[in-house]
Amino acid sequence: MKFYILTLFPEMVEDGLNTSIIGRAVENGLIEIEAINIRDYTIDKHKKVDDYPYGGGAGMVMQAQPVYDTYMSIVERVGHKIPCVYLTPQGKTFNQKMAKEYSELDEVVLLCGHYEGIDERVLEEIVTDYVSIGDYVLTGGELPAMIMVDAISRLVPGVLHNDDSTSQESFSNNLLEYPQYTRPEEWNGKKVPEILLSGNHAKVDEWRHEQSVLRTKANRPDLLN
Ligand code: SAM
Repeated sequence: MKFYILTLFPEMVEDGLNTSIIGRAVENGLIEIEAINIRDYTIDKHKKVDDYPYGGGAGMVMQAQPVYDTYMSIVERVGHKIPCVYLTPQGKTFNQKMAKEYSELDEVVLLCGHYEGIDERVLEEIVTDYVSIGDYVLTGGELPAMIMVDAISRLVPGVLHNDDSTSQESFSNNLLEYPQYTRPEEWNGKKVPEILLSGNHAKVDEWRHEQSVLRTKANRPDLLN
């Protein structure tokens, strides 16, 4: 899967996505991440990419031309249009189901806004999906884009050593995951639940399912609905 990240701060996403599991997935060619600097595509002689909002108000707005030309440079390179996600607090809230759906695409463009956002006209022209990572406002779309890349990439086959681990974890089957324990058997006077040491896989599965339901009821009852 290939991610094209359109941003004014490519080094931020490159630095944030080159370690651990995602960094390894890139190294192994399972995913590709290309951060493209929108500023490289401005036709302004001072390399300006933003301007004051029409109608007045605080802040600056990213101009349509550099964003459009950055997106079109990809379209021209690959020879077809690519789904384009604009990261915005006004979008549909990102969740595991959406991560799964995106992980089935071959390529996706993630468009990061900054300042007060992006001129509406270019969004109407190129954006296919509006996605938010939650009901709060950040300074830019770079962190949201990195969150999407991380959540989507780990669902791409081969990225996790054990692909099974994603079918059991939180939000699969609308449940939160059961509690996890590792060595030692006793820590700080607290013992690992006996059932996990029993070797009885059926009983362990049953216990884990019960724990998942209890946790979901306590922490996220909305999921059970
Ligand atoms: N003026 C915009 C509004 O009120 O909807 C907010 C602009 S925000 C300060 C700047 C950029 O950060 C946005 O264009 C978007 O790309 C990104 N951003 C901020 N919060 C976000 C969120 N919760 N989810 C996704 N992207 C977000």
